[in-house]
Amino acid sequence: MSKENLLGRTLPELQKLLVGLGEKPYRGRQLFKWLYGTRQYDFNLMTDFSRKLREELTLKYTFEGLRLQEKVKSADETEKFLFRLEDEQCIESVLIPNDEKGRNTVCISTQAGCAMDCKFCATGKNGLARNLTVGEILGQLIFIRELYGLTAFTNIVFMGMGEPLNNFDNLIRAIEIITDSAGLGLAAKKITVSTAGIVPRIYKLADLSLKVRLALSLNAAIQEKRVKIMPVAETYPLDKLAEAVRYYTQKTGFRVTFEYVLFDGFNDQPEDIIALTELIKGIPCKINIFAYNPVPGMNFTRPSDEKVDWFARELYPRAPAVTVRKSRGRDIAAACGQLAGKINQGGSFHVA
Ligand code: SF4
Repeated sequence: MSKENLLGRTLPELQKLLVGLGEKPYRGRQLFKWLYGTRQYDFNLMTDFSRKLREELTLKYTFEGLRLQEKVKSADETEKFLFRLEDEQCIESVLIPNDEKGRNTVCISTQAGCAMDCKFCATGKNGLARNLTVGEILGQLIFIRELYGLTAFTNIVFMGMGEPLNNFDNLIRAIEIITDSAGLGLAAKKITVSTAGIVPRIYKLADLSLKVRLALSLNAAIQEKRVKIMPVAETYPLDKLAEAVRYYTQKTGFRVTFEYVLFDGFNDQPEDIIALTELIKGIPCKINIFAYNPVPGMNFTRPSDEKVDWFARELYPRAPAVTVRKSRGRDIAAACGQLAGKINQGGSFHVA
């Protein structure tokens, strides 16, 4: 008899499972705490359970993590993990230790592939394979925590492969396990969900009052330009997006982060600065500027450092907060989906 893997089971699911085994619901919370909080994965060592229950759990269930395919470390200590899932799909996570603010941030995936088709992205190029399960989302964090201990990451960004808001229910379940004090125990404000701009789901997320932070992958503040690089803008144009983001900030009290990747000669013009200034008017926000990390086969190039500085300097007096972010892990293809993209295409993977 094959055992059922409990990785990713939520608190209500574990409570139901334990009740099904003839136990009281509070046993479900104990099991939840053992697995996610205490990191005890051997049912036989769960000392507050009866022997009968321990034996029954051991017989029927398991708690198994993700299978690591590759791990590469950049010269700047950024580390990339490539996991191979049971159906052979590959996903990736990136650990960015000790960033500008001394945080250890882990960037995790929510989908195998992505349907958003952003024209600058390796993941988008290959389309969506499927949504990740709660276990596959959490499994990325649990693997890294097992490897480096409790301080492995202090912040989580849902910014890896996939559009998190398109796997909404599993995203929320994963966040509930992460933020539960008996679970991974991370404060919601340490979690950022990054979206390409799925407007109705931004409202939905705001109304859940989870109090996670929101980042928007903006990349152009002129509608015609944004449509060219992010087809999602056809369905959800910039004015609607700005309204949704404003609603999010009002509901949560958090400012939003606009991510703006600069493509040489495309979205780095004076008109882009004017449009961006207009768009963010009245929205509590900060803007993160990145220079594009070129992906082979895409028609975009990286602007010069001088151009990036110029853009940031021009924007600075017009926006509440502007930061130029260093691209970490450039030597290991750490932009979203670049590593898994190579593997899923059947290409070979070389350690840098
Ligand atoms: S940038 Fe993000 S949303 Fe766009 S295709 Fe890539 S993974 Fe999907």
